Amino acid sequence: MPDLTATASRAFSDALTVIASVEPRISDAIRAELADQRGSLKLIASENYASLATLLTMGNWLSDKYAEGTIGHRFYAGCQNVDTVESVAAEHARELFGAEYAYVQPHSGIDANLVAYWAILNAKVESPTLQRLGAKTVNDLAESDWEDLRAEFNRQRVMGMSLDAGGHLTHGFRHNISGKMFAQHSYGTDPESGLIDYDKLLADAREFKPLILVAGYSAYPRRVNFARMREIADAVGAVLFVDMAHFAGLVAGKVFTGEENPIPYADVVATTTHKSLRGPRGGLVLATKEFSDAVDKGCPMVLGGPLSNMMAAKAVALAEARTTAFQSYAQAVADNAQALADGLLRRGARLVTGGTDNHLVLIDTTTFGLTGRQAESALLESGVVTNRNSIPADPNGAWYTSGVRIGTPALTSRGLGADDFDEVADMIVGVLTGAEPVTASTGKPGKAKYTLTDGLADRTRARAEELLDRFPLYPGLTL
Ligand SMILES: *Cc1c(COP(=O)(O)O)cnc(C)c1O
Repeated sequence: MPDLTATASRAFSDALTVIASVEPRISDAIRAELADQRGSLKLIASENYASLATLLTMGNWLSDKYAEGTIGHRFYAGCQNVDTVESVAAEHARELFGAEYAYVQPHSGIDANLVAYWAILNAKVESPTLQRLGAKTVNDLAESDWEDLRAEFNRQRVMGMSLDAGGHLTHGFRHNISGKMFAQHSYGTDPESGLIDYDKLLADAREFKPLILVAGYSAYPRRVNFARMREIADAVGAVLFVDMAHFAGLVAGKVFTGEENPIPYADVVATTTHKSLRGPRGGLVLATKEFSDAVDKGCPMVLGGPLSNMMAAKAVALAEARTTAFQSYAQAVADNAQALADGLLRRGARLVTGGTDNHLVLIDTTTFGLTGRQAESALLESGVVTNRNSIPADPNGAWYTSGVRIGTPALTSRGLGADDFDEVADMIVGVLTGAEPVTASTGKPGKAKYTLTDGLADRTRARAEELLDRFPLYPGLTL
């Protein structure tokens, strides 16, 4: 077996030399980013580290080919290699997730969601206007017909999780296009337990009668019962759309099985490929046969031309996700989140829902007298990279917030285990305990500024460096 890491080192090093000959500021920034990634205790729940093979697959000639359309039906000539790439990526996605159909073109998670929404509208909206017009093509429509058509599509209803309960902007948030193209109603979580209340969700759905029920989240620290979600969708005749952008790696790695695996229950599933799935930055859509034709029209109806170099990298990452090594990784992500939550709780932190059973925890920073913004900044100054996040019924609003979200996928990729995450919990509680809010100039409690006990940031940063030194990022990569 040749030393592939040494080979990759030469490949990256040579590539940077070539880039530097044109614009050295860019090759410098690429090198600096690697140094930053290596030196940061990355606990951002939506980030990860792709493999060297996946990263190397992104920079090549596939980027130069236009391939609008779909496999075997392109609007451009000469797409045989793109067809191969897209077919292999879709085959891996179908087999990894056990899906009837996979569409690997979306450029990002949000793009994947837009493809999903558009496909569901096309497959499901019964248009009296089109029926009245019978066999007429769109070219024959009068302006008044178009007005009727737009109104029919815009009358559709979507129901997703609210932002402060952990949902995503694209699940019907009023300032997002999803909240403008649909009438929307959001469901929250139980105020006591912080968990999804499926009975209340069913009652709300009966009243609101959505066309689309959206399940999935960015900041909910628990598993979802997709069998219950399916029952609710069926009870009101809704399409079940699952956005598994955050937890796709736990589905791929068979940590979420049975009723926690969305694929057998959902009509359409969308995801990113760069979060817990550990692939290149991008998205994909899985669907049942009923929706496959509509999803397949994603490009050019919703998306620009496919990024074939990125589809190639998706194929490589999806092939990696089909290995038993990836299953061990996914299990470690969940075990580490458990260790982190236990460590935080033992040291007196309050967690939304009281813990976790996925890859993330949400700390309520108000018990430390801090806003999410102050907590995030104090942790960052101490070398601990997290992000602030709203918590249910957040007293500080969506900008300052009252929580920090902490995820295990990235550091688990570096090899940290349960004991190491207990150490991380100790560092986090130490910083939050040693941080004090600074009163604002108005005399009101400040929401942005804080002070830290003398020397605490330096001491914590030294501990973070020691931990990171024990788990090098890309060991053997000489760059
Ligand atoms: C991250 C995320 C997205 C968006 O992904 P992008 O690639 O940033 O567009 C969509 N939905 C959910 C639930 C997410 O967590």
